Amino acid sequence: MKFSTNGLIIREHHVGESDRLVTVLTRDRGLVRAFVSGARNIKGKKQAATQLLSYGNFYFVKGKDAYRITEAECLDVFFGLRDDLAKLTLAQYFCELCGVVVPEQDDAGAYLRVMLNCLKFLETDRLPIHQLKAVAEFALLTLSGYMPDTDGCHACGCEDGNFYFDPIDGVLQCETHRSPHGIPVSIGVVRAMHHITHSTIDKIFSFTLNNDGLKRLSAVSEAFVLAQLERNFTTLDFYRGLTEDIRN
Ligand SMILES: [Zn+2]
Repeated sequence: MKFSTNGLIIREHHVGESDRLVTVLTRDRGLVRAFVSGARNIKGKKQAATQLLSYGNFYFVKGKDAYRITEAECLDVFFGLRDDLAKLTLAQYFCELCGVVVPEQDDAGAYLRVMLNCLKFLETDRLPIHQLKAVAEFALLTLSGYMPDTDGCHACGCEDGNFYFDPIDGVLQCETHRSPHGIPVSIGVVRAMHHITHSTIDKIFSFTLNNDGLKRLSAVSEAFVLAQLERNFTTLDFYRGLTEDIRN
C-alpha cells in the first residue's frame, strides 16, 4: 500500500544504527508512524524533511508490518523556533498533545491547520505566547471532542456576575454554584474560551485580551487539558520550569 500526503513530524526516535522512527501528523490519515532509513548518515533532502517539527509532503509505503517514508519534500522547518528554547519546548508540547488526541487512520486536516498556524505564529512572534498556548490547547481538545461548556453557569444558566471554570467537568459556574475546583475567570476570559471553541479555524486566533487575561486563559486551558486527558506531559513540565520566572 502506498500513499502520499502532507504532514508534520511530531515525534522522532532513533532505531538501531541508522534508522529513525517518526510519527507524522498527516492531513489525510491522522497519526502515521513510519521508518526513515539511513536518515542519520545521509545529509539529504529526506533527512531535513523528516526531522522533528518539519512540515512536508511524504510518500509512505507499507512494508510487512510498518510504514516507511521513501520520499519527502520539505515545505517548512520552522527554523525560527529552533534557537529559542522556550518556543521550541512549547512547540514540542503541542506535538506531544497531538500525539495523544489526534486519531489514527482518519482525516486530520483541521488538527494540522491548527498546528501549522500555531507554529508559524510562535516562530514569528505574531501573537503573545500565552494566547498561542491557550488556542492550541482549547482548539486541539475541542477537535477531539473535549469541548468546554461556556454558555453561562452550568447549574443555573445565569450569565452575569463572577464566573469560575471547573476544568474537571469542563463547565462554567457562578458564585453560588462554584465547585472546589473552580478557577476564577473574568468575562473577557470566558468570551475568549467561547471564541476559540466556537470559531472556524481561520478565526480562532482573532481575539484580544490583556496580558493578565491571557495568562489566566492559558492557565485555564492547561488545567482543562490535564484534567480531561488525566495525564502529564513531560514537555509541558519542562516548559513550566523554563518560564516560571516570566509567568510569575
Ligand atoms: Zn449558577
